[in-house]
Amino acid sequence: DGDEPMISIAIHGGAGVIERGKLPAQAEQAYRASLDVALRAGATVLAANGSALDAVEAVVRVLEDNPLFNAGRGAVFTADGRNELDAAIMDGATEKAGAVAGVTRTRHPVSLARAVMEKSPHVMLARDGADRFSLEAGLEQVDPSWFRTEERWQQLQKALAAEQAQASATLPATAYFGTVGAVARDAKGQLAAATSTGGMTNKRWGRIGDAPVIGAGTYASAQCAVSATGWGEFYIRAAVAHDICARMAYRGDSVRAAAEEVVLTVVPALGGDGGVIALDASGRVAMPFNTEGMYRGTIDADGKVRTAIYRDGD
Ligand code: ASP
Repeated sequence: DGDEPMISIAIHGGAGVIERGKLPAQAEQAYRASLDVALRAGATVLAANGSALDAVEAVVRVLEDNPLFNAGRGAVFTADGRNELDAAIMDGATEKAGAVAGVTRTRHPVSLARAVMEKSPHVMLARDGADRFSLEAGLEQVDPSWFRTEERWQQLQKALAAEQAQASATLPATAYFGTVGAVARDAKGQLAAATSTGGMTNKRWGRIGDAPVIGAGTYASAQCAVSATGWGEFYIRAAVAHDICARMAYRGDSVRAAAEEVVLTVVPALGGDGGVIALDASGRVAMPFNTEGMYRGTIDADGKVRTAIYRDGD
């Protein structure tokens, strides 16, 4: 492993059913180009001596504005046709964290999560209250229609129709994972993680996934930063992000061993699926998933970008 490149930033754009050959070449190119743009936005922040925290926020903001991903613009719809957004951010150096759940009017939920961390005495705010805090904290507001895309609307219609036909079990929620996340390591060797999502298509009852739950979908320490995507209920139950970091801290596992065991053994044993990006303090990365694919990418200390979608690293 001695010649493994030192990774500065890793990102994901969601895990799910992404079968080779099913994704048109043009769409595949669009995803890869989008990952590339996001990685470079983060690298620019690090090059200007920004912190890992600044970098993960910058990366996720770019992906939130990109309608291809299930976060910010392009988020999936709830059963009643709304976009309710979840996001979290954590600073490994201080182990401070911020999170929001079910917000509806903030253009960049990840920045709202950061505001919760830095400008409130709390870690997690939800729904109306979080929307109000967003206004008071001066975050950019948008009309809820900003988040709407026709493709996500059609996905909801399909999910509702399948439910009507009592076939919801045959429509795997995994078809629509598209959460975005980033982990970064800065010049000081400090780490941070951020995750942002619209959650799962057809969600109801104020459902909240793993993304904004610190320790489930998002976690960072001095040693380890993790952002997850997948079937959130299972990622919460397995406390995935914290478990990966704990295995490294308590057992001395490598980031790869820790991430692979949790994602490929622990979560599937419960019946769940998804993937993570995980980075350690030396810039080693692991990006395991047990779905067909996971949009993902890295940029290393030399500025070399790698993106991949499918299982074989391609
Ligand atoms: N993990 C997200 C959730 O359960 C879904 C996703 O990864 O797309 O809300």
